[in-house]
Amino acid sequence: MKDPNCLFCKIIDGQIPSAKVYEDGSVFAFRDINPQAPVHVLVVPKEHISCALELNGDNSAVAAKCFEAVAKIARSEGLESGFRVINNCGEDGGQSVMHLHFHLIGGRKLSEKII
Ligand code: 5GP
Ligand code: ZN
Repeated sequence: MKDPNCLFCKIIDGQIPSAKVYEDGSVFAFRDINPQAPVHVLVVPKEHISCALELNGDNSAVAAKCFEAVAKIARSEGLESGFRVINNCGEDGGQSVMHLHFHLIGGRKLSEKII
């Protein structure tokens, strides 16, 4: 299900270009436009789910699919030595695009602190 006003739905649909790194039936992944590390990929479910608060027993399979994609992308990007996955949720969590997404960040030694 798509939200016509959602930036990431438009990227998934190809209406807005992106640097795609992975796609399957339920997941789309592309490079962040403002990378915070040598590898910074956004892994998103194709289904429009606004944030992690909206996950429930009916739709949580897509979150598992996202993490399966994370493992594949981490290997294809050469991140076997480690990486970080971040989900920002809501205003206090710093979420700026209201379509559930996981930041896959790596390619250098990351800070031990995440806040
Ligand atoms: P959030 O702050 O919601 O957790 O993460 C949103 C991310 O989307 C940010 O890291 C931002 O750089 C990225 N972003 C915003 N607009 C675009 C865009 O048009 N294309 C791509 N590839 N990334 C975007
Ligand atoms: Zn969306």
